[in-house]
Amino acid sequence: MSSTYLGMPGRPVFGDGNLHATEAFPTAARRELGNAQLRANLGHATHTIRDKRLRVVAELPDWEELRDAGSAIKESVMARLPELLEEFEANFTARGGKIHWARDAAEANKTVRDLIRDAGADEVVKVKSMATQEIGLNEYLEEQGIAAFETDLAELIVQLDHDKPSHILVPAIHKNRTQIRDIFLREMPDVDPGLTNNPARLAEAARVHLRRKFLSAKVAVSGANFAIAKSGTLAVVESEGNGRMCLTLPETLITVMGVEKLLPSWQDLEVFMQLLPRSSTGERMNPYTSLWTGVTEGDGPQNVHLVLLDNGRSAALADEMGRSALHCIRCSACMNVCPVYERTGGHAYGSTYPGPIGAILSPLLTGITSEENASLPYASSLCGACYDACPVKINIPEILVHLRAEDVDSRRGTRKTPGQMDVAMKAASWAMGAGRRMALAEKALPLGKLAAGPDRKIKKLPGIAAGWTQSRDIPAPPAQSFRDWWGKERGKSAPGENAPTITRQKEKE
Ligand code: SF4
Repeated sequence: MSSTYLGMPGRPVFGDGNLHATEAFPTAARRELGNAQLRANLGHATHTIRDKRLRVVAELPDWEELRDAGSAIKESVMARLPELLEEFEANFTARGGKIHWARDAAEANKTVRDLIRDAGADEVVKVKSMATQEIGLNEYLEEQGIAAFETDLAELIVQLDHDKPSHILVPAIHKNRTQIRDIFLREMPDVDPGLTNNPARLAEAARVHLRRKFLSAKVAVSGANFAIAKSGTLAVVESEGNGRMCLTLPETLITVMGVEKLLPSWQDLEVFMQLLPRSSTGERMNPYTSLWTGVTEGDGPQNVHLVLLDNGRSAALADEMGRSALHCIRCSACMNVCPVYERTGGHAYGSTYPGPIGAILSPLLTGITSEENASLPYASSLCGACYDACPVKINIPEILVHLRAEDVDSRRGTRKTPGQMDVAMKAASWAMGAGRRMALAEKALPLGKLAAGPDRKIKKLPGIAAGWTQSRDIPAPPAQSFRDWWGKERGKSAPGENAPTITRQKEKE
């Protein structure tokens, strides 16, 4: 049995593959914001899903207790991950399955390729899997001469259009029905040329297209939503039934799963089977739940493999504040309520994981110093809607702030001369450190009024502050400061004016 030392890595092994953004979020977001069709599609889809979710969540009187239970289970899993992984490995292999450990995307991809070649296949069917998207499996297999066919309807649409997914649950959320019909007409051989954009007709066209693949495939590749350590069981939760076809028809089944997906027992699964469908699709129960434990002679795949993927998870686990990002069950509720995601769409985040969870998970898996991912923690208004929606109570805003601090710290001292932000922050800290200095700064308020002009709006600020006025105006400062008002009303000194300064207190200490 192999052993693992998660949380205590000798050196942090950061993730690679499709976790890395290729351009900074502000640049990508600006471009995406110019796409009015994308914004309309996203606005419609996210509002529909979140209204549905709110309705089914309101039906459960113990919803908050379920969230607490989900959070507590995940916290305990992270605390004893190495032990649970070993328990899972023992039970999975005892039932005829084979485990392969992969430190990063390259190792995982190579393992899957070798297994497909050993099975004598040059094409595979796939059930939607975030882990295989994360490692860029499809692209890698294509380079190796192996064709991978996505069987989830939304994934199929994205694949046929040579596009990238933009949502965890609804990868083609940025496309409308007419766009999908056009893709099918263009890319599907033998499709009915009279195909309309009616959802039932589109689903039928996809079903006919996929059935041929299901029946001829010797190998399937899947992800997994959960893994039960006590019995060595894997679980896939889905809506279309395509997953079940992949998991039962081929001779060889290869699952790629992040190490954090473990649950100790079946009782723990019960909590997540209530949390996940309601949070993701707004359904009380998902239509298909497939569970498999190793190999059963004469029934289903006879070669069952599991690639257990680290790819930066041990580095995330080692971050005390950030590790709860690994609690994520990929329900996508956080992105459906995020005002930033709703306007920019998933592509702006660059990584496989978009939205609020992507803004923390990607930099945690790759390291905050990883090129463009450092801009992701700033892709948030910190409104807290994601925290309220998350079924496992991941405090995303808190982790965003923590990662912003890490980003600033990582760049501290790398510049020879202080930047505009350093100077501005130093000046603000000096002025706000003492009531008298603040009072002096407030004397400049009339200047702000002057700059605002007759319409009482400041439209353009200079230097680094120009970012604020690029997309909004700043209201003119009030004619009178609170300090002045207080002094006039109470006839004595303004609050804080005679208070000792912070710097003086610090000096005394
Ligand atoms: S962070 Fe929470 S809300 Fe967002 S996808 Fe993960 S589990 Fe769902």
